[in-house]
Amino acid sequence: AETSARQSQRMELLGQLTAGVAHDVSNVVQAVIAGAELIEKSQDPERMRSLARMVCQAGERGQVLTRRMLDFARRDGADGDDGTAVTDPAEAVGGISELMSRTLGQAHRLRCEIERQGLPTLVRGGRGGLEVGLMNLAANARDAMPAGGEIVIRLAPERVAGRHPARLVPGLYVRVSVADTGEGMPPKVLARAGEAFFTTKPRGKGTGLGLSSVRGFAESAGGALRIESEPGRGTTVTFWLPAAAEDTREDPASNVLPLRAR
Ligand code: ADP
Repeated sequence: AETSARQSQRMELLGQLTAGVAHDVSNVVQAVIAGAELIEKSQDPERMRSLARMVCQAGERGQVLTRRMLDFARRDGADGDDGTAVTDPAEAVGGISELMSRTLGQAHRLRCEIERQGLPTLVRGGRGGLEVGLMNLAANARDAMPAGGEIVIRLAPERVAGRHPARLVPGLYVRVSVADTGEGMPPKVLARAGEAFFTTKPRGKGTGLGLSSVRGFAESAGGALRIESEPGRGTTVTFWLPAAAEDTREDPASNVLPLRAR
């Protein structure tokens, strides 16, 4: 049941992505047409060359977007269900956050911070589940900030040794969090937020399956999920996925990728 719920969510999310990406691709096509028209009228070879370069860059941009989108559509949601799938978390988060930043409206910005030093190169859990999870959490963050605001996705390594607040067993994990500065949840909502089918959203907007499916994904990979929220201040949802091996990145610096919506 969890798998089919995730699949239908995936289709819904895909619809949202399609709309956002189509809008962007149409901007790219406009830039290509405008560039080609300018080349047609131009007499100056130097200017023609630089316009042609601009047209190529715009075209490549469109290609990257459509390719990401097709990759997302092709991953069939069946990954990870046998418990053996592993994912490069930095790559997955980078790819999906780029797509997501395009589906958010003007009012919302997405920032993605990846602490690369010591980050496991592979974690348990399928890429599809991780992507859908992040999209669910980002959609919740957006809904919690109707007037707009910043959504921050953070990815960092965490070595668990003793007792852990989310009851993780000792080992190396990737900690993924999605934070907003929105309306937050009153204690009564917070207590029930992760329950399947619990929603405070109007019919047609909420299914109440977002948080419970992300929790299901994290737990079936051997991790956990935690929700912290304060009314009027915002919400941070964190989930952990265990490293699939002891390999970690040893990049000297951590990366902060500011991703602007449009
Ligand atoms: P849905 O978004 O379809 O309602 P979820 O399981 O994702 O389902 O969320 C359940 C409920 O938890 C939401 O209806 C909302 O009341 C609350 N919630 C979830 N995320 C947030 C958030 N980032 N800020 C405030 N409330 C949230």
